[in-house]
Amino acid sequence: MRAAVLSDIHGNLPALEVVLAAIAAARPDAVWCLGDLVGYGPWPNEVTALVRDQADVCLVGNHDLVALDAAGVGLDEFNREAAEAALWTRRELNDETRTFLHSLAPQASQNGTGLYHASPRDPVWEYVLSGEAAAGAFAAVPDSLILVGHSHVALASTLAGGRLSLDVAPAGTELELTARHLLNPGSVGQPRDGDPRAAWLMLDLEGRAARFERVDYDVRRTQDEMRARGLPSPLADRLAAGL
Ligand code: ZN
Repeated sequence: MRAAVLSDIHGNLPALEVVLAAIAAARPDAVWCLGDLVGYGPWPNEVTALVRDQADVCLVGNHDLVALDAAGVGLDEFNREAAEAALWTRRELNDETRTFLHSLAPQASQNGTGLYHASPRDPVWEYVLSGEAAAGAFAAVPDSLILVGHSHVALASTLAGGRLSLDVAPAGTELELTARHLLNPGSVGQPRDGDPRAAWLMLDLEGRAARFERVDYDVRRTQDEMRARGLPSPLADRLAAGL
């Protein structure tokens, strides 16, 4: 069983297209998406339609919930630019996109693997970027393999014999899955780990291996469309730096 994992696409169609092409070339048995299809980027409906078409499992993320104006997920959790982009996205979503996003949950279980948009303790909001948060994730659920998105930072945390490690996972990082692991594939559409390329993760569950992948995409095309649609300029600028 080989699964391709992607997350945090955020309405960035050029980034999603190159990732899906790379995934198709790798011929996985399944495609798993960890959520945040919309928010920030200028193509929320196009991105949602492609993911609906191509992903076998898809979670909902905090930005998707805010765009749906879902109860309990308020704009006050967002900074000014993210809130402005969320309001733009809310107006932009068509009925098909809304119906699909409404049908999704922020967590799922596949082939003995736990999938969470954010974390097992809080599938919508908690960022797993510290050893403390990773330890909390391992303590919260029995899964030997935990997949999370949300932070937009590709990373791997391993719990083996009571010892926990947490490291960022740059392009090409390969991991043997021999203990308990928490993996974040990084973000397709708005990377925040200093590498502007679109991120995804290839998993081989029988071969017990994981590989962190990055692919170049046309950042300029996304930036130009964001500015043309009146989305906040700093959100476009950051894509070039991957921060
Ligand atoms: Zn996100």
